[in-house]
Amino acid sequence: MTIIEPHIHMYSRTTDDYEAMYAAGIRACVEPSFWLGANRRYAGTFFDYFKLILEFETVRARRFGIDHYAAVSFNPKEAENTPLVDEVLAGIDAYLDHERCVAIGEIGYNNINDAEQYAFRRQLEIAKDRDMPVVIHLSHYEKPKCLERMLRDLDAVGIDQRKLYLDHNTEETIGRALHETDCMCGLTVYPISKLTPERVSAIIREHGADRIIVSGSADWGVSDPLALVKVVETMRRDEHEAATIDKLVFANANRFYGQSPRWKPQLNIAPLDPHEFQR
Ligand SMILES: [Zn+2]
Repeated sequence: MTIIEPHIHMYSRTTDDYEAMYAAGIRACVEPSFWLGANRRYAGTFFDYFKLILEFETVRARRFGIDHYAAVSFNPKEAENTPLVDEVLAGIDAYLDHERCVAIGEIGYNNINDAEQYAFRRQLEIAKDRDMPVVIHLSHYEKPKCLERMLRDLDAVGIDQRKLYLDHNTEETIGRALHETDCMCGLTVYPISKLTPERVSAIIREHGADRIIVSGSADWGVSDPLALVKVVETMRRDEHEAATIDKLVFANANRFYGQSPRWKPQLNIAPLDPHEFQR
């Protein structure tokens, strides 16, 4: 089975993860920019990181047979530092123009406050001007309140919601996200926090899979780069149709990112012999 991982932070993963992902059928992925474990103090640190995920990480993934794209943005977890938001957004164009950049993201809310709203709306405006897809991060706490506030932001900016991938929904928000927006709606599977494959399976049983994408969203925390493989196994066990599973782990992500002209995933990259790149 061919899988697209639509939201994963490979920057914090090892080569073992790439090997396991390839072996399990993951052939393309998108890495949204995010927090690095400590708040950055300089705009230059953001720019170097954007370049790393757009260039080095893409080369590294390709060695293991995976076509890697990235999304760049000022992430919500650091977005209370408004002067730094302004400085980074003043210099972000070169990275948004990069051939491997397929979206702006992830952007959204963490603590759900006015400073984060400023960064969120400014970047929605940039996405609207550029007609680029956006990866949106719903807060991990008070999700219904966060969604409520986001819906007002989306209205205020007047952005085309079909270009938005609204990630980190749970049972608390998925119904509203599907019925009150045109967004592609994301579910995130984590080993401990967030959703389990069983909960994803139950959500799909209730809501269908026409506008839902699943991601593993793996980073340096307790997370799993093979989360989607476990979703596939659980969904098969629960007797979902093959077409439903394909939408969730391949077709919907392919359709969503296909709204960027740069998204042309190459699904047949042959992994290199590690001896060829040990330099
Ligand atoms: Zn993320």
